[in-house]
Amino acid sequence: HAFCVRDPCGFICLLLTYFSVFYADYVVIQYVLIPAYSDSVWCSLHGVVFNLILLLLLACHAKAVFSDPGMVPLPETAIDFSDLRSQSRMNERGCEGWTVCSRCETYRPPRAHHCRVCQRCIRRMDHHCPWINNCVGELNQKYFIQFLFYTGLASLYSMVLVVSAWVWRIRSEREGAAEGDGEEEEAPSKHLIVAHYIILLVESVLFGVFVMVIFYDQLVSIITDETPLEQMKNRLMKDRPSSSSQHQPHTHAHTRKPRIPLLREVFGRGSMLLWLLPLHSTPPSAGGISYSALPDYDV
Ligand SMILES: [Zn+2]
Ligand SMILES: [Zn+2]
Repeated sequence: HAFCVRDPCGFICLLLTYFSVFYADYVVIQYVLIPAYSDSVWCSLHGVVFNLILLLLLACHAKAVFSDPGMVPLPETAIDFSDLRSQSRMNERGCEGWTVCSRCETYRPPRAHHCRVCQRCIRRMDHHCPWINNCVGELNQKYFIQFLFYTGLASLYSMVLVVSAWVWRIRSEREGAAEGDGEEEEAPSKHLIVAHYIILLVESVLFGVFVMVIFYDQLVSIITDETPLEQMKNRLMKDRPSSSSQHQPHTHAHTRKPRIPLLREVFGRGSMLLWLLPLHSTPPSAGGISYSALPDYDV
Protein backbone atom coordinates (compact mmCIF):
# COMPACT_ATOMS: atom_id res chain seq x y z
CA HIS A 1 0.00 0.00 0.00
CA ALA A 2 1.32 3.37 -0.98
CA PHE A 3 -0.62 5.71 1.25
CA CYS A 4 -0.61 9.25 0.07
CA VAL A 5 2.91 10.24 1.04
CA ARG A 6 3.58 12.25 -2.07
CA ASP A 7 1.45 15.23 -1.05
CA PRO A 8 3.89 17.91 0.21
CA CYS A 9 1.14 19.76 2.11
CA GLY A 10 0.28 16.57 3.98
CA PHE A 11 3.93 15.99 4.83
CA ILE A 12 4.30 19.52 6.27
CA CYS A 13 1.08 19.09 8.27
CA LEU A 14 2.40 15.82 9.72
CA LEU A 15 5.65 17.48 10.83
CA LEU A 16 3.70 20.42 12.27
CA THR A 17 1.47 18.03 14.24
CA TYR A 18 4.43 16.21 15.80
CA PHE A 19 6.26 19.46 16.49
CA SER A 20 3.18 21.01 18.18
CA VAL A 21 2.66 17.97 20.39
CA PHE A 22 6.28 17.84 21.56
CA TYR A 23 6.42 21.60 22.04
CA ALA A 24 3.28 21.51 24.21
CA ASP A 25 4.73 18.67 26.27
CA TYR A 26 8.04 20.51 26.70
CA VAL A 27 6.42 23.78 27.84
CA VAL A 28 3.96 22.05 30.16
CA ILE A 29 6.68 20.04 31.91
CA GLN A 30 9.52 22.55 31.88
CA TYR A 31 7.72 25.85 32.44
CA VAL A 32 4.38 24.94 33.99
CA LEU A 33 4.54 21.81 36.13
CA ILE A 34 8.11 21.91 37.48
CA PRO A 35 8.11 25.57 38.60
CA ALA A 36 4.48 25.84 39.72
CA TYR A 37 3.84 22.42 41.28
CA SER A 38 7.34 21.34 42.22
CA ASP A 39 6.61 20.57 45.87
CA SER A 40 3.40 18.64 45.47
CA VAL A 41 2.02 15.42 44.14
CA TRP A 42 0.10 17.48 41.55
CA CYS A 43 3.29 17.87 39.53
CA SER A 44 3.61 14.17 38.74
CA LEU A 45 -0.16 13.64 38.60
CA HIS A 46 -0.71 16.35 35.97
CA GLY A 47 2.42 15.18 34.18
CA VAL A 48 1.20 11.60 33.95
CA VAL A 49 -2.35 12.49 32.87
CA PHE A 50 -1.21 15.07 30.31
CA ASN A 51 1.32 12.68 28.78
CA LEU A 52 -1.26 9.90 28.71
CA ILE A 53 -3.57 12.14 26.67
CA LEU A 54 -0.72 13.04 24.31
CA LEU A 55 0.17 9.37 23.96
CA LEU A 56 -3.40 8.47 23.02
CA LEU A 57 -3.49 11.46 20.66
CA LEU A 58 -0.36 10.23 18.86
CA ALA A 59 -1.59 6.63 18.81
CA CYS A 60 -4.92 7.62 17.21
CA HIS A 61 -3.08 9.91 14.82
CA ALA A 62 -0.72 7.12 13.76
CA LYS A 63 -3.65 4.76 13.21
CA ALA A 64 -5.46 7.40 11.11
CA VAL A 65 -2.31 8.09 9.09
CA PHE A 66 -1.24 4.52 8.42
CA SER A 67 -4.50 2.62 8.11
CA ASP A 68 -6.22 2.01 4.84
CA PRO A 69 -9.17 4.45 4.68
CA GLY A 70 -11.05 1.93 2.54
CA MET A 71 -9.45 2.06 -0.88
CA VAL A 72 -11.35 0.37 -3.65
CA PRO A 73 -8.90 -2.14 -5.13
CA LEU A 74 -7.85 -1.63 -8.71
CA PRO A 75 -8.82 -4.38 -11.11
CA GLU A 76 -6.13 -6.88 -11.97
CA THR A 77 -7.10 -6.88 -15.60
CA ALA A 78 -8.40 -3.92 -17.56
CA ILE A 79 -12.17 -3.81 -17.71
CA ASP A 80 -13.84 -3.26 -21.03
CA PHE A 81 -16.09 -0.26 -20.47
CA SER A 82 -17.28 -0.16 -24.06
CA ASP A 83 -20.12 -2.44 -23.05
CA LEU A 84 -22.60 0.10 -21.71
CA ARG A 85 -24.95 -2.60 -20.55
CA SER A 86 -22.44 -3.69 -17.95
CA GLN A 87 -23.88 -1.16 -15.49
CA SER A 88 -27.37 -2.61 -15.76
CA ARG A 89 -25.98 -6.11 -15.71
CA MET A 90 -24.30 -5.35 -12.41
CA ASN A 91 -27.55 -4.06 -10.97
CA GLU A 92 -29.19 -7.31 -11.99
CA ARG A 93 -26.53 -9.15 -10.03
CA GLY A 94 -27.42 -7.35 -6.83
CA CYS A 95 -24.71 -4.71 -7.01
CA GLU A 96 -27.25 -1.94 -6.69
CA GLY A 97 -25.74 1.52 -6.71
CA TRP A 98 -22.31 0.50 -7.96
CA THR A 99 -20.73 3.03 -10.26
CA VAL A 100 -17.77 3.28 -12.57
CA CYS A 101 -14.74 5.46 -11.81
CA SER A 102 -13.20 6.58 -15.07
CA ARG A 103 -9.94 7.59 -13.39
CA CYS A 104 -9.37 4.32 -11.53
CA GLU A 105 -11.01 2.42 -14.41
CA THR A 106 -12.83 0.19 -11.98
CA TYR A 107 -16.22 -0.48 -10.47
CA ARG A 108 -16.84 0.94 -7.03
CA PRO A 109 -19.46 0.22 -4.37
CA PRO A 110 -22.13 2.75 -3.41
CA ARG A 111 -20.88 5.78 -1.41
CA ALA A 112 -17.33 5.42 -2.71
CA HIS A 113 -15.75 8.54 -4.16
CA HIS A 114 -12.56 9.33 -6.00
CA CYS A 115 -9.87 11.26 -4.12
CA ARG A 116 -7.63 13.33 -6.34
CA VAL A 117 -4.78 13.39 -3.82
CA CYS A 118 -4.76 9.65 -3.13
CA GLN A 119 -5.62 8.99 -6.79
CA ARG A 120 -7.89 6.19 -5.70
CA CYS A 121 -11.54 5.63 -4.89
CA ILE A 122 -12.26 5.57 -1.15
CA ARG A 123 -15.25 3.83 0.41
CA ARG A 124 -17.60 6.26 2.17
CA MET A 125 -15.10 9.04 1.64
CA ASP A 126 -15.51 11.94 4.05
CA HIS A 127 -12.71 14.22 2.91
CA HIS A 128 -9.00 14.19 2.29
CA CYS A 129 -7.29 15.50 5.42
CA PRO A 130 -3.75 16.89 5.10
CA TRP A 131 -3.33 16.67 8.91
CA ILE A 132 -3.31 12.89 8.68
CA ASN A 133 -1.94 12.93 5.12
CA ASN A 134 -4.68 10.48 4.26
CA CYS A 135 -8.30 10.27 3.32
CA VAL A 136 -10.94 9.98 6.01
CA GLY A 137 -13.04 7.03 4.91
CA GLU A 138 -15.01 4.04 6.11
CA LEU A 139 -12.10 2.24 7.76
CA ASN A 140 -10.21 5.06 9.52
CA GLN A 141 -12.91 7.58 10.43
CA LYS A 142 -13.00 6.21 13.97
CA TYR A 143 -9.28 6.91 14.48
CA PHE A 144 -9.64 10.35 12.93
CA ILE A 145 -12.46 11.32 15.31
CA GLN A 146 -10.52 9.93 18.29
CA PHE A 147 -7.54 12.02 17.20
CA LEU A 148 -9.77 15.12 17.15
CA PHE A 149 -11.13 14.25 20.58
CA TYR A 150 -7.71 13.89 22.23
CA THR A 151 -6.38 16.99 20.47
CA GLY A 152 -9.30 18.99 21.86
CA LEU A 153 -8.77 17.48 25.31
CA ALA A 154 -5.03 18.21 25.27
CA SER A 155 -5.67 21.79 24.12
CA LEU A 156 -8.17 22.38 26.90
CA TYR A 157 -5.90 20.79 29.48
CA SER A 158 -2.84 22.80 28.50
CA MET A 159 -4.89 26.01 28.52
CA VAL A 160 -6.00 25.32 32.10
CA LEU A 161 -2.45 24.42 33.18
CA VAL A 162 -0.84 27.47 31.58
CA VAL A 163 -3.40 29.92 32.95
CA SER A 164 -3.17 28.51 36.47
CA ALA A 165 0.64 28.55 36.36
CA TRP A 166 0.62 32.12 35.10
CA VAL A 167 -1.73 33.21 37.88
CA TRP A 168 0.49 31.41 40.41
CA ARG A 169 3.58 33.17 39.01
CA ILE A 170 2.01 36.65 39.21
CA ARG A 171 0.78 36.03 42.75
CA SER A 172 4.13 34.72 44.00
CA GLU A 173 5.92 37.65 42.35
CA ARG A 174 3.62 40.06 44.17
CA GLU A 175 4.23 38.31 47.48
CA GLY A 176 7.96 38.39 46.81
CA ALA A 177 7.76 42.14 46.13
CA ALA A 178 5.72 42.73 49.31
CA GLU A 179 8.23 40.89 51.43
CA GLY A 180 10.88 43.01 49.80
CA ASP A 181 13.67 40.46 49.61
CA GLY A 182 15.91 41.07 46.65
CA GLU A 183 15.52 37.62 45.14
CA GLU A 184 15.27 38.84 41.55
CA GLU A 185 14.74 36.34 38.78
CA GLU A 186 16.94 36.93 35.77
CA ALA A 187 14.93 39.08 33.42
CA PRO A 188 15.52 37.15 30.14
CA SER A 189 14.34 33.87 31.60
CA LYS A 190 11.18 35.55 32.89
CA HIS A 191 10.42 36.93 29.44
CA LEU A 192 11.19 33.55 27.92
CA ILE A 193 8.71 31.85 30.24
CA VAL A 194 5.96 34.33 29.42
CA ALA A 195 6.72 33.95 25.70
CA HIS A 196 6.36 30.17 25.99
CA TYR A 197 3.07 30.60 27.87
CA ILE A 198 1.69 32.88 25.18
CA ILE A 199 2.79 30.62 22.31
CA LEU A 200 1.29 27.55 23.96
CA LEU A 201 -1.96 29.41 24.70
CA VAL A 202 -2.28 30.55 21.08
CA GLU A 203 -1.48 27.03 19.86
CA SER A 204 -4.06 25.51 22.19
CA VAL A 205 -6.82 27.96 21.29
CA LEU A 206 -6.21 27.62 17.53
CA PHE A 207 -6.02 23.83 17.50
CA GLY A 208 -8.75 23.50 20.13
CA VAL A 209 -11.33 25.53 18.22
CA PHE A 210 -10.31 23.97 14.90
CA VAL A 211 -10.69 20.37 16.08
CA MET A 212 -13.91 21.04 17.97
CA VAL A 213 -15.57 22.40 14.82
CA ILE A 214 -14.46 19.36 12.79
CA PHE A 215 -15.39 16.98 15.63
CA TYR A 216 -18.91 18.42 15.66
CA ASP A 217 -19.20 18.14 11.87
CA GLN A 218 -18.02 14.53 11.98
CA LEU A 219 -20.60 13.55 14.61
CA VAL A 220 -23.37 15.29 12.66
CA SER A 221 -22.36 13.51 9.48
CA ILE A 222 -22.44 10.14 11.27
CA ILE A 223 -25.78 10.78 12.95
CA THR A 224 -27.42 12.03 9.75
CA ASP A 225 -25.71 9.21 7.83
CA GLU A 226 -24.46 11.61 5.17
CA THR A 227 -20.87 12.34 4.28
CA PRO A 228 -20.11 15.98 3.34
CA LEU A 229 -20.09 14.97 -0.31
CA GLU A 230 -23.53 13.41 0.00
CA GLN A 231 -24.83 16.42 1.94
CA MET A 232 -23.79 18.64 -0.94
CA LYS A 233 -25.33 16.31 -3.50
CA ASN A 234 -28.61 16.02 -1.61
CA ARG A 235 -28.79 19.79 -1.14
CA LEU A 236 -28.32 20.27 -4.87
CA MET A 237 -31.05 17.75 -5.61
CA LYS A 238 -33.40 19.43 -3.17
CA ASP A 239 -32.89 22.72 -4.98
CA ARG A 240 -34.20 21.27 -8.23
CA PRO A 241 -36.90 18.76 -7.35
CA SER A 242 -38.12 18.71 -10.95
CA SER A 243 -35.02 16.83 -12.07
CA SER A 244 -34.74 13.08 -12.19
CA SER A 245 -33.87 12.83 -8.52
CA GLN A 246 -36.63 10.31 -7.94
CA HIS A 247 -34.75 7.82 -10.02
CA GLN A 248 -31.62 8.00 -7.94
CA PRO A 249 -30.94 4.74 -6.13
CA HIS A 250 -29.32 6.68 -3.31
CA THR A 251 -32.28 7.21 -1.01
CA HIS A 252 -30.93 6.16 2.36
CA ALA A 253 -31.21 9.77 3.58
CA HIS A 254 -34.98 9.47 3.64
CA THR A 255 -35.03 6.45 5.90
CA ARG A 256 -33.15 7.68 8.93
CA LYS A 257 -31.59 5.04 11.12
CA PRO A 258 -31.40 5.55 14.89
CA ARG A 259 -28.29 7.30 16.19
CA ILE A 260 -26.62 4.67 18.33
CA PRO A 261 -26.48 2.00 15.59
CA LEU A 262 -25.08 4.64 13.24
CA LEU A 263 -22.38 5.51 15.78
CA ARG A 264 -21.70 1.81 16.29
CA GLU A 265 -21.10 1.40 12.58
CA VAL A 266 -18.14 3.76 12.95
CA PHE A 267 -16.92 3.06 16.48
CA GLY A 268 -17.56 -0.67 16.71
CA ARG A 269 -19.99 -2.87 18.56
CA GLY A 270 -18.06 -3.12 21.83
CA SER A 271 -18.56 -1.14 25.02
CA MET A 272 -18.75 2.62 24.63
CA LEU A 273 -15.57 2.94 26.70
CA LEU A 274 -13.77 1.15 23.89
CA TRP A 275 -14.87 3.93 21.54
CA LEU A 276 -12.15 6.04 23.13
CA LEU A 277 -9.32 3.68 22.27
CA PRO A 278 -7.64 3.33 18.88
CA LEU A 279 -8.30 -0.39 18.67
CA HIS A 280 -9.39 -2.24 15.60
CA SER A 281 -13.09 -2.95 15.84
CA THR A 282 -14.90 -5.58 13.85
CA PRO A 283 -16.69 -3.93 10.98
CA PRO A 284 -20.45 -3.69 11.39
CA SER A 285 -22.35 -6.69 10.13
CA ALA A 286 -25.29 -4.67 8.86
CA GLY A 287 -24.56 -3.39 5.38
CA GLY A 288 -20.96 -4.47 5.62
CA ILE A 289 -19.52 -5.06 2.20
CA SER A 290 -17.92 -8.45 1.86
CA TYR A 291 -16.09 -7.48 -1.07
CA SER A 292 -13.90 -8.14 -4.05
CA ALA A 293 -13.00 -5.76 -6.85
CA LEU A 294 -15.67 -7.19 -9.05
CA PRO A 295 -18.10 -9.62 -7.47
CA ASP A 296 -19.19 -12.40 -9.77
CA TYR A 297 -18.56 -10.42 -12.83
CA ASP A 298 -17.58 -12.28 -15.94
CA VAL A 299 -15.86 -10.04 -18.47
ZN1 LIG B 1 -11.40 6.50 -8.61
ZN1 LIG C 1 -7.31 11.20 -0.23
